[in-house]
Amino acid sequence: MSKQIVVVGGGVGGTMVANQLVSKLYPEIQRGEVKVSLLSNSPDHFYKPAFMYVAFNLFFEEELKRPERSLLRPEIRFIVDEVTRFDFARQELRTRGGKRQGYDFLVIATGCLPAPERIEGLKEAGDHFYQYAPARQLAQRLSRIEKGRIFITVSFPQTPNVPHQCGIAPVETTLMLDDFLRRRGVRDKVEIVYTYPTTAQLLRNCLFLQRPTGEILPSLFEQKNIRFQRGFTLCKVDPDQRIAYSEEGDAQPFDILMATPPIRAVDAVLESGASQAPNREGWLPTHHETLQVYGLDGVYVIGDTVDLPISKAGGACHNQAPVIANNIAAEIRLGAPNAVYDGRVQAVAQMGLNAGMPLWYDYAHDVLPTPPHKLGGLLRNGFNRGLYWAVARGML
Ligand SMILES: Cc1cc2nc3c(=O)[nH]c(=O)nc-3n(C[C@H](O)[C@H](O)[C@H](O)COP(=O)(O)OP(=O)(O)OC[C@H]3O[C@@H](n4cnc5c(N)ncnc54)[C@H](O)[C@@H]3O)c2cc1C
Repeated sequence: MSKQIVVVGGGVGGTMVANQLVSKLYPEIQRGEVKVSLLSNSPDHFYKPAFMYVAFNLFFEEELKRPERSLLRPEIRFIVDEVTRFDFARQELRTRGGKRQGYDFLVIATGCLPAPERIEGLKEAGDHFYQYAPARQLAQRLSRIEKGRIFITVSFPQTPNVPHQCGIAPVETTLMLDDFLRRRGVRDKVEIVYTYPTTAQLLRNCLFLQRPTGEILPSLFEQKNIRFQRGFTLCKVDPDQRIAYSEEGDAQPFDILMATPPIRAVDAVLESGASQAPNREGWLPTHHETLQVYGLDGVYVIGDTVDLPISKAGGACHNQAPVIANNIAAEIRLGAPNAVYDGRVQAVAQMGLNAGMPLWYDYAHDVLPTPPHKLGGLLRNGFNRGLYWAVARGML
């Protein structure tokens, strides 16, 4: 019997790991001893970071998606179906299409979902850029505003030491917003207020989730006349009065509320019973080094579904995928995993519409911020428009 490796989720984590499993286990696959399948609930693959460009009219839907099949090596069996139940005891998945799929090794790569409905009034009155349709709606509002107040908030998961999706995105979009309004010629009539909650992973009363970057933000924001406020943990929004309330007792008016909303794992993961994360957030208990799910033999997790203290980012998946591929190959060939993830994340942050700042960090080292520059902007543009697809294919 051949060994069945099943990857669930055709986003960046699942796609990279499936492709890298085929490279790693090519001899076994050729001999028919190993089969790799990928199940996803969508035939398309979305380059999610482009959603934030959608909010500034720089990307449209057709530019940020590709057929998932076109990104996968031909040896991978690709199935479009939704996993509705993980039966870990039987090593089996159930799907919306009524199928059962057994596995010897499973990689869960189902990402996370924005959950603005978890804060009263936020879904009705807030905007965000973490999915395509909300980002288009935000673009409409940002393209029309002539004067007023854009209030920016960030919500963290309640699971201790777990960040929101893409840690740098609120800073990136605040700087992009400033440039966008200047280009429109309305910046002097629109106030931008960037706020951050009291608790940000392990830090308190900061402007960013890592201290060195947080410390440079006041001077960066002051140069651009962006107001900033620490200690604003969004707890309620009044859609009629257009006021955002904080746990700390503050009340702030807005014309546009640009929020990083709460997030959660997808339903099948939430209901799998494998997560003990508070607040029904669903993060899977992840071994920091091997990326196995604690307590479940042969089950690995990648990307936004982990409970690790590192960014929920494609730049994290990029470093996690080879570790998982190596560990599954080592389990098959040697009987035990042997690769170690060091928490590495790398990215080029978009610092305004033209500039970029390369960044990297790991479990032991924070990002050391450097001055944003146009070369960084070019690199980011190259990644957005082309390099990303090579990364997803496992070529870079
Ligand atoms: C606005 C924005 C900006 C960002 N900027 C950056 C950035 O600059 N740099 C960076 O590195 N990262 C960035 N990120 C984060 C990055 O996009 C995510 O971390 C990354 O997509 C996570 O990959 P994933 O594979 O875990 O999940 P996803 O990419 O979300 O993929 C999940 C996949 O699982 C599928 N799926 C879900 N449920 C099921 C189910 N039950 N059955 C079958 N399939 C299912 C989905 O259809 C999807 O294909 C950004 C994200 C956003 C939204």
